Amino acid sequence: MRKRLYLRIIIAYFLFGLFGFIAVATVISRLTNDYCVRDRARILYREAVRISDTYATELYNSAVSLETVQSQMEALSAYMDTEIWILNPSGRMIVNSRRAPDPSEETIVENFDSTITAGNYYTTGSFFDSFDEEVLSVIAPITSRFKIRGYVVIHLPMAEIRRTADSMLNISYMLLVTLLVLSLIILFFFTEYVYKPLQHIIAAAEQYALGNMHYRISVEREDELGYLSASLGYMADTIARAEDDQKKFIANVSHDFRSPLTSMRGFLEAMLDGTIPPERHEHYLRVVLGETDRLTKLTNGLLTLNNLNTGGLILQRTDFDINAVIRSVAASFEQTCRSRRLQIRLILTGRILYVNADLEKIQQVLYNLVDNAVKFSRPDTEITIETTEKGETVFISVRDSGIGIPKDDQKLIWDRFYKTDLSRGKDKKGTGLGLSIVREIIRAHDENINLVSTEGVGSTFTFTLRRSDKNDELDDRGEFENADF
Ligand code: ADP
Repeated sequence: MRKRLYLRIIIAYFLFGLFGFIAVATVISRLTNDYCVRDRARILYREAVRISDTYATELYNSAVSLETVQSQMEALSAYMDTEIWILNPSGRMIVNSRRAPDPSEETIVENFDSTITAGNYYTTGSFFDSFDEEVLSVIAPITSRFKIRGYVVIHLPMAEIRRTADSMLNISYMLLVTLLVLSLIILFFFTEYVYKPLQHIIAAAEQYALGNMHYRISVEREDELGYLSASLGYMADTIARAEDDQKKFIANVSHDFRSPLTSMRGFLEAMLDGTIPPERHEHYLRVVLGETDRLTKLTNGLLTLNNLNTGGLILQRTDFDINAVIRSVAASFEQTCRSRRLQIRLILTGRILYVNADLEKIQQVLYNLVDNAVKFSRPDTEITIETTEKGETVFISVRDSGIGIPKDDQKLIWDRFYKTDLSRGKDKKGTGLGLSIVREIIRAHDENINLVSTEGVGSTFTFTLRRSDKNDELDDRGEFENADF
């Protein structure tokens, strides 16, 4: 298909050259010839009329001798490179510039007929067989007292005119050759700068269509084609990365599903074949129940992430009191905190602090952050949730004095399924999806979340939300502290 396009251009180029030559060789050559004949005929006729009005008339009126006219004509014809005759009406030669007529021997132009020009003032041919070669002849009558006394005839060899026409034609040929060479240069540049890069791009597109996303396009240019190939390359990279992510994701999901399933299967088999005695069944059934909890959590997490990622996340923004949400999330951890001897301390700005966001999603963010803080805190420590206001932004932070997150892991914990080595021993049920969900929700709000953490000291997650205008209606400002909810 694309080969044919190039072939068409080449064929068009050669056809252009061929037709150019045919046109110059036929049409233009004929036009040039005709033009040259007419032009010379016009000049010669003017000369013939001048001779007829002067020398020839004087000759017939016997005002000048035949010898004088003969010598004048000889000089003139030599100058004009022509042959000048003066004939009487019947065709007898009176004057011949090439050869003075012999008075003893009459020279007659046989069948001479002045109407040969057929309404024109010139004719081409052998002029009544007087010449062996083709000549251009112009005929001007000599009149005296309203009678035709004779004719002035001037002949010019057609070969002479053709020479002039040929030299004019040569210019056309040179122009055509120049045009062809120029278009050949354009064709060369087109091939080098358009056709070849396009071929590379098409080859790359074919490779991408076949699934080879690691194929590189070798078009490094600053123009539109360069931009197109860079965009294609970028697209291929993105697809390749997405494919890699997909593979990693599926590998992680399979792994995370397989381990609880394997352990559940192990316990159930052991109970069935009697390895676990019946009195221990209850204990192991609780373990299996725990594993099903983990699987449910994993599935829910995946579903939530999938909804967030597929662009299906439409935020239901409302103005709500973030302090109230924090209090209720903290309250839901009351039991867990008590069993782990943890305290949640709330440092909230104002009694009520309205933000504009999606209430349910922010609740989930807070839940995930507090859940992590609780999981990774050391007993007898404190978890602090704090809100601060700065202009139109509200900062919400969750601080714990737990195991902390190593520097190298701090960028990675936002990835799906990522868990730090430090935390593995402490939290076997974690899915590694919590923070991915948090990040997606905060991103969807066009807000930011950041982490400050020191290994062995603790971590602080802080995210921002947009302050609601509703706050301006409230006047009870001031720090509100609630250590025990
Ligand atoms: P998980 O369900 O495993 O908690 P997350 O995405 O919420 O998944 O967290 C990912 C990993 O980040 C955790 O497994 C843990 O290694 C680390 N992490 C998250 N929050 C904390 C924290 N407050 N203290 C220490 N490590 C944390």
